[in-house]
Amino acid sequence: MTHPSNVPSIDPAKLDRLAEVAIKIGLRLQPGQDVFLTAPSAALPLVRRIAEHAYKAGAGIVTPILSDEEVTLARYKYGADASFDRAPTWLYEGVAKAFGDNTARLAIVGDNPMLLSNEDPAKVSRASKANSIAYQPALEKIAGFDINWNIIAFPGASWAKQVFPDDEEEVAIARLADAIFAASRADQPDPIAAWEAHNAALHERTRWLNSHRFASLHFTGPGTDLVVGLADGHQWMGGASMAKNGITCNPNIPTEEVFTTPHARRVSGTVASTKPLSYQGTLIDNIAVRFEDGRIVDATASRGAEVLGKVLDTDEGSRRLGEVALVPHSSPISQSGLLFYNTLFDENAACHIALGQCYSKCFVDGATLTPEQIAAQGGNKSFIHIDWMIGSDQIDIDGITPDGGRVPVFRKGEWA
Ligand code: ZN
Ligand code: ZN
Repeated sequence: MTHPSNVPSIDPAKLDRLAEVAIKIGLRLQPGQDVFLTAPSAALPLVRRIAEHAYKAGAGIVTPILSDEEVTLARYKYGADASFDRAPTWLYEGVAKAFGDNTARLAIVGDNPMLLSNEDPAKVSRASKANSIAYQPALEKIAGFDINWNIIAFPGASWAKQVFPDDEEEVAIARLADAIFAASRADQPDPIAAWEAHNAALHERTRWLNSHRFASLHFTGPGTDLVVGLADGHQWMGGASMAKNGITCNPNIPTEEVFTTPHARRVSGTVASTKPLSYQGTLIDNIAVRFEDGRIVDATASRGAEVLGKVLDTDEGSRRLGEVALVPHSSPISQSGLLFYNTLFDENAACHIALGQCYSKCFVDGATLTPEQIAAQGGNKSFIHIDWMIGSDQIDIDGITPDGGRVPVFRKGEWA
């Protein structure tokens, strides 16, 4: 018997619902809109389901670009040394042009998170930097929320084996597939209605936070005593939100966070990570950093310290924060108890902060602000945006009002 998904351990009905969620909730694709789609080669069954739902929704042209783990490894094994300072700039220029023409962006993640863990860290970081620089014009349109975009996940075999190392490959894929379907609400009979309800709940949280206009948040917990100043005119976001092209989309599937822009020059104190960070094939564990005037001045990690150091030295903004996000410990992804080694999932298991680029949409009237105004209000600029987890069931958060008053926001990892 042939299986519609081509991967026997993945439920084809749920895979189809995930594709429907990506098009109808994630992108809210409009008739006539083109779609630029990237995916690991293992995710081809999902790419095909997405193309079908996209065209049924009236898509213009769906253009997929696939990456492949063996092709990537071949580069590290045989590629000329000088090539690691290059990137396919022509492709990224085309992508930026497509975004300028209102093309929607869909990314499927699902690669082996440890793919590059045995490769030369210097080469990994050079390639990543060259890529980041080439991608910058396109990334600015994503970070600036010019167009509707969405990231979803597919349970690739090597990723599944990373999350469930003790299971046979087939079992591991099935378990990761179930976890992805549950977190993405594709396991529900009417996932579209489930997402509408979830979006309404997240919007209620952002309304509460925005009504308080906190000047800063004070995080306390084991290894953490951190004051995160919030940018002037910051706005809390969460769930579906409207891109500058007027389309209301859910950029991340799943999403459990509400988030805003910290002030790049008003963060002080110490903070310890509560989950390992999987960054381009390296696991960085037990991160502990100290901020002064918004800048990381001390950083240690029990594992992956060398990669962390290189990340922090990427550019001027890579030692400063571009995002602060609140996620209760009771979130479904947190309760799954799984470490996904993937930011899309792990960031929705705990409160987190991100080094690097801020989201200009997290400002009141963000769409009308110039880059100079955003910088003046405290928005950070960088080639990187890396989320890492600082939340747990032991973290307390107070909101500090502009006149110095304190409002409990989180107690023991839950909304106060
Ligand atoms: Zn986040
Ligand atoms: Zn982030």
